[in-house]
Amino acid sequence: MSSTYNSGNTSQHDKSEETGKTNSYTKGTDEVVEEHSVDPEKGLSEDEVTKSRDKHGKNVLPQKGKTSPLKIFIKQFKDFLILILFIAAGISFYASQAVNGYIILGVILFNAIMGFFQEYRAEKAVESIKSMVKHKITVLRGGEQATISSKKVVVGDIIILNEGESIPADARLLEVKNLRTDESSLTGESEPVEKVADKKLKKDTAIADQKNMVWKGTHIVKGSGKAVVVSVGGDTEIGKIAKSLQEMKTGESNFRKKTARLTKKMAGIAVFTSIIVFCVGYFYRAFEFQEILLVTIATMVSSIPEGLPVVISIVFAIGAKRMAKQNAIIREFTATEVLGSVSTILTDKTGTLTQSILSVKHIFGADEKEYQVEGQGHEIEGEIKNQDKTVDVKEAPEVLKKILFIVNYGTKAKIQNKQEEEEDADEDKNGSDDIKVTGDPTEAALKVLGKKSGIDELEAYSKPEELDDLPFNSRQKFRAKLVQFEDGKKEILVAGAPERVMELSSKVLTGEGVEDLDEDTKEVIQKKNEDWADQALRVIGLAHKEVSKDEIENEDVKDLVWTGIVGLIDPPRPEVNDAIGSCKRAGIRVMMLTGDHAKTAAAIAKKVGITNENENEDSDYPSAVSGSEVNDAQEEDLDGMIRNVSVFARMNPNTKLLIAERLQQQGELIAMTGDGVNDAPALKKADVGIAMGQRGTDVAKDAAQIVLSDDNFSSIVKAIREGRIVFKNVKSTSYFLLTTNFAGTSVLIFGLLLGFPLPLTAVQILWINMVTDGIMDVAKSTEKGHGDMMDRDPIRKDEPILTWEIMPFLLIMAAIMVSMTLYTFSYYESQGTEMARTGAFFVVAMTQVFNAFNMRDLNKSVFDIGLLSNKWINLAFITSIVLQLAVVKIPFLQDVFGFDNIPYLDFFIMVLASSVVLWAGELYKWIKRK
Ligand code: ADP
Ligand code: MG
Repeated sequence: MSSTYNSGNTSQHDKSEETGKTNSYTKGTDEVVEEHSVDPEKGLSEDEVTKSRDKHGKNVLPQKGKTSPLKIFIKQFKDFLILILFIAAGISFYASQAVNGYIILGVILFNAIMGFFQEYRAEKAVESIKSMVKHKITVLRGGEQATISSKKVVVGDIIILNEGESIPADARLLEVKNLRTDESSLTGESEPVEKVADKKLKKDTAIADQKNMVWKGTHIVKGSGKAVVVSVGGDTEIGKIAKSLQEMKTGESNFRKKTARLTKKMAGIAVFTSIIVFCVGYFYRAFEFQEILLVTIATMVSSIPEGLPVVISIVFAIGAKRMAKQNAIIREFTATEVLGSVSTILTDKTGTLTQSILSVKHIFGADEKEYQVEGQGHEIEGEIKNQDKTVDVKEAPEVLKKILFIVNYGTKAKIQNKQEEEEDADEDKNGSDDIKVTGDPTEAALKVLGKKSGIDELEAYSKPEELDDLPFNSRQKFRAKLVQFEDGKKEILVAGAPERVMELSSKVLTGEGVEDLDEDTKEVIQKKNEDWADQALRVIGLAHKEVSKDEIENEDVKDLVWTGIVGLIDPPRPEVNDAIGSCKRAGIRVMMLTGDHAKTAAAIAKKVGITNENENEDSDYPSAVSGSEVNDAQEEDLDGMIRNVSVFARMNPNTKLLIAERLQQQGELIAMTGDGVNDAPALKKADVGIAMGQRGTDVAKDAAQIVLSDDNFSSIVKAIREGRIVFKNVKSTSYFLLTTNFAGTSVLIFGLLLGFPLPLTAVQILWINMVTDGIMDVAKSTEKGHGDMMDRDPIRKDEPILTWEIMPFLLIMAAIMVSMTLYTFSYYESQGTEMARTGAFFVVAMTQVFNAFNMRDLNKSVFDIGLLSNKWINLAFITSIVLQLAVVKIPFLQDVFGFDNIPYLDFFIMVLASSVVLWAGELYKWIKRK
């Protein structure tokens, strides 16, 4: 995209002038707010929202690139094969074989209709999946904050912007705090742009320089802010350029290359064998030129795998749909296939392996008093106990009170009554019945502890005013909030990784007041931290400090007064153990990359089965290493470390990226999870980037190929299984087509060589191609996995679709099909060529249909996977028989196709006889299994 895009020159400009919406960058914040008659502290009322939506429209981009059904239909005729068929029809009419000509035209139409439905179906699936990834934003409405879907934002809305979010509409900034946005999607500028609120800018300032504006489709990389929406949907800058960012990416994938190679191979075989048909027919048997030419064309048309690319898209689309059912939403279709080859999963811990409904269980004050906290999850009920005695917060030691104060007021988490619940707001299911906790899970747990203790009911600690807030990020590993008491005293409240908070502390709050923080005290705290971490607790350090400022920056967070630590439990998700077990069986390595403490990480890793009880006993490597060790390691050390250690703690996004790159160099194909803004590069780098749907930022979602709607590790494993099924189905569908085509052509070649009349006419060949290929292959694409998908190693990245291993099977099948057909032909030949063709035609079709059952699984018996377990195959089976019987039995069609009357009983016997293909297939698989 051009980096000098300027809005000041289009007709759009005039239109906006007339509605008075743009040029907001030339105005002061007051002016803009007034223009939209909105109170920046309250936002719009519901009425005003409706009015604005009626006037300015919805916040959706004009649907672009959507192919209309008519276009899809017309596209079906723009095909090389169709052209050949038209030529064939032309030849027929010219050779005064009008009936043939019409049939071929019919075939063209039927092909177009089939192709249309296949493609239309794939397109629909893409669309439904596209709309699953939703972005959310916080707005002020009627004086309350609400989280709504970005689509519902209207002009005049006051939006609250936070790190990692995607900006829902073009908006004029009202307040900023360290705000930086990534506008590369709009301007091409890759450096983050610093934003301002209080400046008016000159008219005709270029988009890239309008620093008091934020744009739809761009991202916040840092800081926070507040803004008023000035244009939505198609009126936004990105809307004007009419390029949807959400459009699914369709890059040339490894897999597309594989299928292209396969299609070429198959087309090559088709052309080659057709030429043989022609040569044998024309030169050896001296058929009439026109007749043999038509047959050759028909053979070629039916053996070129024209349907394969479409069938593969259907396999992908079905795979994507099934994955969506397993909570893995595919943003890039080719990811479905790559998933099947994943050999290492790099997962984070909190929320993915664990439930992420944290609760504080232990408190250790700076006065070295320890407390236990009762209550599960987000339950507000529960006592705080010191050596089995309930502690009354009113009489509690100062240090405990301070801890409770920090946890209660020092975070962004909120406890609301269920009644206030917003339709769109994030939900927390495991809380108590009538309350709901929102916010980061760690902060939610702290807030719940605060509420539980009743600290807000104490005079001296009740409701301080919030002045400023520095949110948590995984680089800094702490969060801070500036609050002011009624008497004007101001304090910074800090929570974060204990080591980090301790680094920033120089004093300690004891029973006797504030003292210097000495090494001995530090050691005691360290010890407690490690003990808790060993028990898989997540540990948070707490500190505070009095200040005189009204605003804070990261640099102000130092010389803190150490106050205590709290230990949180985050139970593993119950289904994760099994999921990791099946990864191990499937030859997939699971590695945990977390920001948490090494011991907590190691303890959880053991619990969920990533590491075994005694796995590392005689290894030179520890069970977990931390980010700093990774950074310190030498090149070779690092490779060894990465190969032998599965738990990496205190990771930051750069170390994650480093490990990902190393693994790829070692030849691993990696899937990687992430949620933060900083995870985006690693998500892009991974072969499959997986973002968290609930916890994840919009930036992470946009960088990923897959979004997990339930944030659950086991969904990844289920998606991998589906990915393997996709590959298997592509394989077996192409094998099916290959045998079918090969057998069809061979019937002609051998028939001619044996001196028979033409075993099948051109239209008969085309009909079989339509019915068996067209119906059976689509039905085959719906095949499910058969239990064993996770019992083998990952599919190699370069594993071709067509392997030599399958050749004997294909040849045997083709040989049976050809000899049965030719036998049938010779059996009826004494009753006339038309009789013979009728029989041959029916047997060719039936053997192919039975072969479709063989191809449902290349190793397992169909009786093991359940003969009736795929209803589409059975439906296709019945449809095929009915359609074949229709052309050989209905008098009119009989004439058109040139068939003769064979009794029903004979057809019945032919069906039974054709099933030999199935028995032979079963026998072959049985021998192979032994
Ligand atoms: P992860 O979530 O994978 O454990 P993070 O980098 O997010 O990794 O967290 C690192 C550490 O920072 C945690 O172990 C915890 O001590 C602390 N921490 C995490 N989230 C918060 C938060 N919202 N507020 C305060 N401290 C936090
Ligand atoms: Mg985290």
